[in-house]
Amino acid sequence: MRMQGNPVSGGIGIGPVLTYRPVLPPVRERFVEKGQTEEERERYRAVIKELMGDLRKLSSSKDAGGQMAIFETHAELLADPATMESVFDLIDGGICAEWAVHIAFLHFADLMRDSDNAITRERSADFEDLRRKLLCRLSGTKQQDLSHLEEACVLVAEELLPSDVAALDAPKVNAIVTERGGATSHAAILARSLGIPMLMQVEDCTGKLLPGETVIVDAREGFMIARPGATELLLYTGKQKDWLRDRQEAVDSRFQPARTQDGEDVSLMLNVGGEVPMPDEVAACGGVGLLRSEFLFLERSAPPSEEEQFSHYRAVLAACVGKPVTLRTLDVGGDKTVPYLNMRQEENPFLGLRGLRLCLAQPELFRTQLRAALRASVFGPMQIMFPMVGSIEEFEQAKRFVEAVKEELVQEGHHFRRNMPVGVMIEVPSLALMGEELAQAVDFASIGTNDLCQYLNAADRMNDGVASYYDPCHPALWRLIASLGKAFSRAGKSLCICGEAAGSPAFMAAAYGLGISSFSMGLASIGPSKRALRVLNAKKLRREAARLPKMSTSEEVRRLLMEFANGEPLGL
Ligand code: PEP
Ligand code: MG
Repeated sequence: MRMQGNPVSGGIGIGPVLTYRPVLPPVRERFVEKGQTEEERERYRAVIKELMGDLRKLSSSKDAGGQMAIFETHAELLADPATMESVFDLIDGGICAEWAVHIAFLHFADLMRDSDNAITRERSADFEDLRRKLLCRLSGTKQQDLSHLEEACVLVAEELLPSDVAALDAPKVNAIVTERGGATSHAAILARSLGIPMLMQVEDCTGKLLPGETVIVDAREGFMIARPGATELLLYTGKQKDWLRDRQEAVDSRFQPARTQDGEDVSLMLNVGGEVPMPDEVAACGGVGLLRSEFLFLERSAPPSEEEQFSHYRAVLAACVGKPVTLRTLDVGGDKTVPYLNMRQEENPFLGLRGLRLCLAQPELFRTQLRAALRASVFGPMQIMFPMVGSIEEFEQAKRFVEAVKEELVQEGHHFRRNMPVGVMIEVPSLALMGEELAQAVDFASIGTNDLCQYLNAADRMNDGVASYYDPCHPALWRLIASLGKAFSRAGKSLCICGEAAGSPAFMAAAYGLGISSFSMGLASIGPSKRALRVLNAKKLRREAARLPKMSTSEEVRRLLMEFANGEPLGL
């Protein structure tokens, strides 16, 4: 029996089904007298203290990619005065701690689930996770223990919460299959960082699959096979072996030079969100090519202060020990809404007040961030870039803003890097078509293929219904990349690609052949990219890639990229 799913963490896993059915203890709906409310508050305080201790231990545990830091976020959610107040208010209203936790956390999870923003929606699982943990602790209920598994398995569940994945006995989990969840959920992010193949949205898998029966999960292609025949088993055991060898090689490649077969060094950088990169991440890359600073602004009730931003940027620079860091200024709007910024409801938010447009419309917000960034710039080679820029005038307006902030800092006697490079993300076609002039105006630039591709193809990047129109192989995109590569090479300025496509070794190879000098990607893509570079000849790449801007169909582009992929999936 073949079942389709959404592959959110690539790979192949085979093994007996282990069905996970988390227990949610029944909520005791108990009224309490006035005199007992302090006792209930105390019960709540005690479990919070215990849980926060466990979460902080989890968050500081070493993992590939620093992803466990999400448990620090969980701890912050618990400690947030608004969360505490909601539960205490309910208890003071005359109900027991369990009931109050149930109502308050269900309410938070519902609020998140109703958001227009995909990332906030995924966060609803985090509140569910906390609700379950608190209720278990309050009632002394034990969960099925996933941290010590008897034998290797394929874990099957309706939904996995982040702490379920974090607690996993990972070496014994060959694959994970769930009915619910999305690629940007923390559970999926954790599975990717642990290197466990994962399929989501597999319909009724907990009902259709029997515990103990063997299944094959192909999370490269996006399906699974239940009760496979002997031939299928043999075939996929071979594929799994190849994939495991590949994965190990890719991890080993992480710390090797990013060099082509004929000795050209390519700059491979790291994309980071709200976390400070770990030493092994820094060792694997040439620096941070994209610091998505908006992560500091999400999931909170007020913007981070100048001091808070300053210490974070300084921490990132310190962690990078002299390697360059490109800080992207606040990029909200589009799919990322921030309630406290009083953003207007827009019919087409991706074409609305987002990125730099929003910063220019809210100068105080922009000013605070620039002050923090400039002050931090003395701690390492930092450069800043603006997202969602449509014209050279917009860039110049933002640059004047930076100059004014510098003037202010001079007056106040602050130190900062006077000649800090300032650049743009190339995401809007109107700017992408101005390569020659742009290369003169900016210090550097980075192509954001996630957005450039959606605007060029007129296909919303979040809309599954038009996914086939969102085409990174469209020859128009390659014409733009080629002309930008030429313009920036001529001007002697650095041009990076930092969208998801940079993590596809074949895409990177083709763009390198067209003069793009640097690529910024997630940690998981660094090893495979370095390994791919080792067998590529740069001169041949340039010769072959020169054909791309002359192609007229996406199919032709795809065929050439497949040649650069050396038999690996394109990953686009
Ligand atoms: C991009 O658009 O390619 C990019 C890197 O920015 P984001 O995905 O954060 O919009
Ligand atoms: Mg973008």
